[in-house]
Amino acid sequence: MDIFIQKLPKVEIHLHLEAAFSLETLWDLIQKYGGDHEVMDMNNLREKFIFKDFPHFIKNWVWKNNYLREYEDFEIIAKSAAEELVRQNIFYAEMSFTPGDFSRNGLTNACLLAEKIRKGLNKVKETNVQLIVDLCRDYGPDEGKHYLYELAEVKESLGIVGITIGGSEHEFPPEPYAEVYKLARELGFKCSAHAGEASGPKSIWGAIESLKVDRIGHGVRSTEDPKLVDYIVEKKIPLELCPISNIKTNVISDMSKHSIRILYDRGAVVTVNTDDPLMFNNSMYDDLTEIKQHLGFSNSDIIQLMKNAINSSWATESVKREYVKRLSLYDDLP
Ligand SMILES: [Zn+2]
Repeated sequence: MDIFIQKLPKVEIHLHLEAAFSLETLWDLIQKYGGDHEVMDMNNLREKFIFKDFPHFIKNWVWKNNYLREYEDFEIIAKSAAEELVRQNIFYAEMSFTPGDFSRNGLTNACLLAEKIRKGLNKVKETNVQLIVDLCRDYGPDEGKHYLYELAEVKESLGIVGITIGGSEHEFPPEPYAEVYKLARELGFKCSAHAGEASGPKSIWGAIESLKVDRIGHGVRSTEDPKLVDYIVEKKIPLELCPISNIKTNVISDMSKHSIRILYDRGAVVTVNTDDPLMFNNSMYDDLTEIKQHLGFSNSDIIQLMKNAINSSWATESVKREYVKRLSLYDDLP
């Protein structure tokens, strides 16, 4: 047990609500809707989340979402996800939700969805969660624009701070979303985009040049293009890296080969995140201990990663100050 990492108050800025709640909560939802012949017990459910590759991961993501059918289910999973954050000593998190995945299940009112999520989050007082809308690229820019207009009305009251595009990155490049991102900025949303995970550096260049993002979701493959790394370092574009996620989806074969070390040493603003802990069976503790063990990150490096995360976050200045003050208590520890 690494006491330092366990006790460290943590921050996470790349986390999907639909894969951040507990396995027990998913089991309860499956039972609520009559059970599933493929998963007869918790072990089957755990095994379901061992992935061959990225497309296989997406396939099981869709399967799981089939058990989120009513608006009330989002209150349940949001409360469960917030409890998971508290369990991991995560003080502040930015969590995305993907309305497009659920309009297909008949939940067409994105505001109501966000309202239920906020209601569930509010039941857990010990952590601060801000929301990000994932305008999943599989559904196209027009649908993305529709959610933006809808959610702009409630963004302040429900704590929705930004947008991203997740989904099948290997099939849908970022460029067609240029207009959507422009609109998002005009409506006051901060912008990130998944890039450089299932696709290479080209997708990151696209997110930077066409979408003008504030941060990159993942960006783990940026090291395939030295010019891109130079640019990211120079412009201080934060990377939402997700080490264990990359291993689980086979984007990276081995933790000792993960680009986080190179990027950190080059001076890039890197952050560590869990992405989909329900599906990868990981936690912030696991991700941080993995990079410590396999890539030689020291405790002071880990504090720096946490500072990077809060400074790259879209939290208020007072939340940022409060967290940096809490972190300073850990600065002198070995
Ligand atoms: Zn993600």
